Amino acid sequence: MKIAILPGDGIGPEIVTEAVKVLNALGETFEMESAPVGGAGYEASGHPLPEATLKLAKDADAVLFGAVGDWKYDTLERPLRPEQAILGLRKNLGLFGNLRPAILYPELAGASTLKPEVVSGLDILIVRELTGDIYFGQPRGVRECPDGPFKGQREGFDTMRYAEGEIRRIAHVAFQAAQKRGKRLTSVDKANVLETFQFWKDIVTDVHKEYPDVALDHMYVDNAAMQLVRAPKKFDVIVTGNMFGDILSDAAAMLTGSIGMLPSASLDANNKGLYEPSHGSAPDIAGKGIANPLATILSAAMMLRYSLNKTEQADRIEAAVKQVLAQGLRTADIYEAGTTKVGTEEMGNAVVKALA
Ligand code: NAD
Repeated sequence: MKIAILPGDGIGPEIVTEAVKVLNALGETFEMESAPVGGAGYEASGHPLPEATLKLAKDADAVLFGAVGDWKYDTLERPLRPEQAILGLRKNLGLFGNLRPAILYPELAGASTLKPEVVSGLDILIVRELTGDIYFGQPRGVRECPDGPFKGQREGFDTMRYAEGEIRRIAHVAFQAAQKRGKRLTSVDKANVLETFQFWKDIVTDVHKEYPDVALDHMYVDNAAMQLVRAPKKFDVIVTGNMFGDILSDAAAMLTGSIGMLPSASLDANNKGLYEPSHGSAPDIAGKGIANPLATILSAAMMLRYSLNKTEQADRIEAAVKQVLAQGLRTADIYEAGTTKVGTEEMGNAVVKALA
């Protein structure tokens, strides 16, 4: 199994080093090869996604990605900025399904802005469609308003659209993810107002016939937003479109209060994927050895589960992370009085030790 390792910028190399260490401690044979991406790609060959990096990612079974970006690149023209590498990878690898778990370990319940009894033990997964919806639909733009009370004024407009195949493939990803978890799926839509999402609901209902072991329900997005902050633990897997998923996944991430703990995956139709922490390159703490590597280590666990079919090894990593938290080890971002503050490397070493 070949894994492309793309550490990127800022804290990227520090946290990816720890995740690689954990993968190497599993006793499996992985072929791993690194390449520069983002600002590091620009420095190496004048482009955030160098051709050799893209080729490596395409040839690999999975990609482990750190983070990209640094304020020093803010003056570059947009196509050369580090963040363009992520869009380029998504497009070239056909990554349309974004999996964002929001997990709150009971030991970190104090980090959430919600009451501990509402969020402690939270373990939900949001599956967001990444390449369609109103974000990419055509036509779009600013034009002269053709009718109504504002006729003749300028108006902005976008087009919400989903093709049947696009809905089917994300529904399959979500049902299959639910099969690997609590076997419950909530499809979030706005079918009461939007034709696109009545169609979405009908197609998801049809795909459900292939997954009789998964319980499916449907929820309007406004209610889903409310339930996420009222009783988030009642969800297992949520599937939704690009725009609703963008908003709901950020809200769900913040329930946990700790950005350094949240992994993510972006998958193609064959479960090949790119795995990365949900946070950015944190230039403010880069090079200080204090970044939390757990989101990246947990992203490596997701890689084992979703792309490499190594569920047992994924479980081992997740159990090791739980164990180090139970031991009271904390990086600065999740530190609380009464726990032991450790750096990036010490945290990685502790996970490796817990694996053993
Ligand atoms: P950020 O997520 O990098 O940082 C936000 C805050 O969280 C900072 O205070 C940072 O120190 C802290 N933080 C983030 N990850 C942490 C970790 N693992 N451990 C401890 N603390 C952590 O977001 P930002 O500051 O808005 O963006 C910085 C750069 O990252 C920008 O160039 C942005 O474009 C880029 N970015 C990249 C990605 C990506 O690579 N996928 C995602 C978001 C932002």
